Amino acid sequence: MAQKSNQEEPDFQTDATKQIQDEINTRCELNPDFAKRIGNFGFIELEDSWGDEATIINTARISTTNHRLENLADFGDKDRNLLYHLLSHNHGTPFETVHFRWRIIAPIFVLRQWMRHRICSFNEFSQRYRMPITAFFIPDAEARTVDGFKVITDEQSQRYEKLMNSLHEFYQTEYAEVCQRLDAAEASGEIKKIAGGRNPYRARARELLRNAMPVSTYSDLYWTINFRSLMNFFALRRKSDAQNEIRQFADCAYKMFELRFPLLAETMNRVIEERSQK
Ligand SMILES: Cc1cc2nc3c(=O)[nH]c(=O)nc-3n(C[C@H](O)[C@H](O)[C@H](O)COP(=O)(O)OP(=O)(O)OC[C@H]3O[C@@H](n4cnc5c(N)ncnc54)[C@H](O)[C@@H]3O)c2cc1C
Repeated sequence: MAQKSNQEEPDFQTDATKQIQDEINTRCELNPDFAKRIGNFGFIELEDSWGDEATIINTARISTTNHRLENLADFGDKDRNLLYHLLSHNHGTPFETVHFRWRIIAPIFVLRQWMRHRICSFNEFSQRYRMPITAFFIPDAEARTVDGFKVITDEQSQRYEKLMNSLHEFYQTEYAEVCQRLDAAEASGEIKKIAGGRNPYRARARELLRNAMPVSTYSDLYWTINFRSLMNFFALRRKSDAQNEIRQFADCAYKMFELRFPLLAETMNRVIEERSQK
């Protein structure tokens, strides 16, 4: 099981991982502005969103007037000012009425940081029900360099890849052995043959073997979040002190968000900037 270095497509993958790879390619073709690859196997897509700038203004105006806006084209200076005023003064709930659904394929170590954001919801690929994605994060030369100094050398990177490959190989080999023994035990009548549905023997093997999978392994999830919480995510994860790998995803998500919601992005940036100067 060998994996090519860095940005090249890995060549050892299982059929299930290849399907994910194909799906990523298809999504990037079908939704080019809102679906992007990141690193050697990463991916992010803004699949859907609900509400817009007008939704926020209309929600806030329930307190004051029956006047409603259809969309951004109806916005005048008064509406722009109200949007800014609400955000800068922490009138938060109108901003909770706009929602985003993202598909994210990222290494587990990135997702572990991502999941610290609690005001949102996640639905993740299960290594209990499926075998792991056979792709792991490979830092490119830039990611291994700080201020022009190569912190992790090419040789070290190769040793890392070898180790990661061997862990993935370990999983595949051990799981194949379990399956062979289960097939034999079913054939001899030692255990009951499970027709369809979840096979508890195979599931138990996956539950245990996934412990050998490193946090560099890619996982796949849906992330649903409202704008108020997304703004907090951008403020924290696009900052220079956030780890490079999650920052790349956050920056990519931000570009998609800005393309779809230019006024909201502009207002948000102004407020984040003002808060950082206080
Ligand atoms: C650069 C960086 C370094 C970090 N380092 C570490 C680290 O070393 N160790 C570590 O454990 N985490 C670390 N974190 C994670 C960080 O502490 C937050 O958990 C994470 O960024 C999520 O932010 P949040 O709580 O604002 O977001 P969310 O969980 O989405 O919460 C949004 C907002 O809701 C409110 N809220 C949510 N839950 C509660 C609650 N229980 N009580 C009161 N108010 C609540 C808060 O106002 C919060 O800002 C780091 C984050 C960054 C960006």
